[in-house]
Amino acid sequence: MGLKLFNTLSRSVQEFAPLDLESKRVGMYCCGPTVYDFAHIGNWRTFVFGDLVRRYLEFKGYAVQHVMNITDVEDKIIKRVRESRAPLSDFTGKFEAAFFEDLKSLNCRLPHQTPRATEHIGPIIELIQKLLDKGIAYRAADGSIYFSIEKYRSAGRQYGQLVKLNFDEMRVGERVRSDEYAKEAVADFALWKARVPEDGEVFWPSPWGEGRPGWHIECSAMSMEILGPSFDLHVGGEDLMFPHHEDEIAQSEGAALQPPGQRFVRHWLHGAHLMVEGKKMAKSLGNFFTLRDLLAKSFSGREIRYLLLTAHYRETFNFTMDGLQSARQSLARLDECLARLREVTGQTKAAEDASLVSNFSEKLDDDLNVSGAWGSIFEWVREMNRRLADRSLDSSAAASALAAWERIDSVLAVGASTEVVAPPEIQALLEARQAARKAKDFKKADEIRAELKVKGWVIEDTPKGPRLRPG
Ligand SMILES: [Zn+2]
Repeated sequence: MGLKLFNTLSRSVQEFAPLDLESKRVGMYCCGPTVYDFAHIGNWRTFVFGDLVRRYLEFKGYAVQHVMNITDVEDKIIKRVRESRAPLSDFTGKFEAAFFEDLKSLNCRLPHQTPRATEHIGPIIELIQKLLDKGIAYRAADGSIYFSIEKYRSAGRQYGQLVKLNFDEMRVGERVRSDEYAKEAVADFALWKARVPEDGEVFWPSPWGEGRPGWHIECSAMSMEILGPSFDLHVGGEDLMFPHHEDEIAQSEGAALQPPGQRFVRHWLHGAHLMVEGKKMAKSLGNFFTLRDLLAKSFSGREIRYLLLTAHYRETFNFTMDGLQSARQSLARLDECLARLREVTGQTKAAEDASLVSNFSEKLDDDLNVSGAWGSIFEWVREMNRRLADRSLDSSAAASALAAWERIDSVLAVGASTEVVAPPEIQALLEARQAARKAKDFKKADEIRAELKVKGWVIEDTPKGPRLRPG
C-alpha cells in the first residue's frame, strides 16, 4: 500500500509520490534550529516528527536526502552576541553543539546535510539578485532589499498558498516594525538587511552594501542549492507556516528556477503545537522545558521520544509529567516482553513475523497514524506475554517476533535492542547476593535485594539465573 500524507498545499491527505519515482530518491528539507539558546520541548516535537518522516520513508525503501539548516545569524542571535560580547561563531557554536547532542539523546538520525546560513551568503546573494532582476525585489532608502508582494502577485503568482490571506487586512492591520520603516508595503519582507550600528561585527559585503540576510531567504537559498529548485518534502512546525514558509515559496517560485509545471516543494508537512500541562509553554508559567531540563528530572531521551511519538503529528499534544511517567511504564512493559522473547529465542534466527510489520505499516501509511500503530504494538505485547506464560512460543516463533520488532523499531527507535547493562557496583551487589544465597544467608540476600531496589534496580530470577533491570 502507498503512503498517504496530509499536504498543507492542498489541505488534504494525498498519496505521496516523489518527483523521481524510479530511483525512489526523496529530497527532504526541515527548518532547523536558530542557535541562540537550547531547543525546548516544543521544538523537539517538530524535530522528532521530522525524524519519524525520514525513518518511515527509509523503511518504505526510499533513499532520503535529509537537509536541515542551522540559522546562525538572525535578530535574536545578534542581540545576544552584542550582550555577551563573544564573536558570532563562538556564541552560536555552543548552542549548535548542544543541539546535535540533544538530537542524539532523542535518537534522531543525523540529517545528511546541516548547512549554516553564514556559510551560504554567496548563494543567498545570488538568489536576491535574481529577484531584483525580475523586478520582484526592490532596494529601499536605507539600503535594505525587500520582497514586493504586490509585484509578485501582479506577475501572476499566488501569495498565500499555505494559508488564506486577506490582503486588505494586511495593509491596514499589521503594525510596521520600526526597523523596517523603509519598505513600501507592510506585507513586504526583508531579503537583505542593511548594516546598522547595533549589528556590531555581524555583516557581510554585498552588491548593495554591507548587511546580512533575512531569515526566510536563507531557507530558500540553501534548500534549492542542495536539493534543487524543486524537491519533494518540506517539514516544519505549524508556527512556521506563515510567514516563514509562505515567504520561502514566494522567494523560490518568484525566482522561477523550477522546470515548467513544477512547484518549489511538492509536499508540505506541518507538525502541530505542543502544550505543556494543558497550557501554552511560557517561562512565566513554569511549564517551559528544554530537553536538558527534562533529562535533569531523570527522564531519559528514550522516554521523551516515546511520549512525543504517541500522538498524531497534526494533533495539538498536551505534554505532561504524568505522561512521562506512563511513558516509562509503557516502555518497561515493552522491555519486559522483549527481554523474555530474547531468552526464549537464544541463538535461533528466523524471518520476521509479517503480521506485526504489516499492521504497523498499514497504520503509518495512513498519514503516519502512530497512535494506531502503538495500539497494535501493545496488543502484540499482550499476545506475546500470553504465549510466553503458557509456554506455547517456541524459539523460532520468538525469533520471528523479535525480528519483526527490530524492523518496526527502525522507525520508532525507542526499543532498547540490547539489555540495559548495570554499572559495575550494581553488578557487584548482585554477585554478593548470589554468594549470600549460596551460603543460605537469606536475610543478607534480602537486604541486598532491598538495597538494589533503593538504587533503582530490580532482580528477576530467571531459569538462566538472576537478571537486573531498572525499576
Ligand atoms: Zn526555514
